[in-house]
Amino acid sequence: RPKSISFIGLGRMGSEMAFNLFSKTFAESKDAQFTVCDAVPEAAHAFRRNFQEHFPGASLHVSNTPEEAAIKSQTIITMLPSSPQVRSVYSEDRGIISALRHLSREDANATLCIDSTTLHVAVARAVSEEVHKLGALMVDAPVSGGVTGAKAGTLSFLVGGTHDEFTRASPTLALMGQRIIHCGHSGSGLAAKICNNLVLGVEQIVVAEAMLLGQKLGLNPAVLAGVINNSTGGCWSSSVNNPVPSALPDKSPPCERDYEGGFATALMLKDMGLATDSANAAGTPLPLGQMAQNIYEKVIREKPDLARKDFSSVYQYLETQLPG
Ligand code: NAD
Repeated sequence: RPKSISFIGLGRMGSEMAFNLFSKTFAESKDAQFTVCDAVPEAAHAFRRNFQEHFPGASLHVSNTPEEAAIKSQTIITMLPSSPQVRSVYSEDRGIISALRHLSREDANATLCIDSTTLHVAVARAVSEEVHKLGALMVDAPVSGGVTGAKAGTLSFLVGGTHDEFTRASPTLALMGQRIIHCGHSGSGLAAKICNNLVLGVEQIVVAEAMLLGQKLGLNPAVLAGVINNSTGGCWSSSVNNPVPSALPDKSPPCERDYEGGFATALMLKDMGLATDSANAAGTPLPLGQMAQNIYEKVIREKPDLARKDFSSVYQYLETQLPG
């Protein structure tokens, strides 16, 4: 049987991931069959046009529903905003679960679902249980590395599932990323991702605070960034995603493009919510995480334009909070 892969959710991350996955798969198997699906049909059609311009001979179909996309392929990847969309794409009418119900046991056993969305651990585990009941395999495989990593094919995948599921998913994930880490059973990839983003969300705010303070004290932002990045305060939010234009020697951080692209503030707020919800459920304190969540909430409430811009735009928000 030719290789068949469906990709559902062609947003900022999904479109780059699908492009890498399909182009590398096509290079190995010219008869591979690809399917894409998005709630905004134009996103799927635009992806198809772009892909077929680069690979005119490739078989790439646009499906109208997740059910249709799932029936067509042995490997199904989802990259959606969060829990409600994953629930809907898997469990609602015309969803992936409905497709699995229509498959023979043999075909269901050969089907692998990879969800790379960042969502609630409990929702991911519930969906995966439904998938498992029907005989298919499923891993949660959220990513770290952002749009730049998605485009370059250098993402890190944090994977939750059995050893067999991890082994089965790894070759597919390797076409989109560089590091594939087995974090434990179902939901564990998400648990790791939520903890990582808790650190990131707090860190980006404090880097913005330090860059503002340093400038108020008369420092050149490039000098300050150079010091932090070579000292104990060095971190990704300062050395790669520094929020101040011209602070880094290269022009790649989103602040150089008026905070366009990158990781949306709304998505970071969502991830801080996932962390605080998980902490409440687990009974563990999260004082800084809670404070960071409140700050991202205020950013979006007071400056709605920043919701879809990179979360390092918290710097712009803090700038307006300063006296004078
Ligand atoms: P996005 O909003 O750009 O893309 C989501 C896509 O899903 C959109 O094209 C949307 O139309 C589609 N979609 C929504 N509901 C759907 C449905 N019911 N059926 C089919 N398609 C549907 O988001 P993104 O930036 O690509 O992020 C996707 C996920 O990756 C999120 O969980 C995010 O937290 C995570 N993530 C993002 C980044 C980043 O830098 N952007 C980094 C790491 C992880």
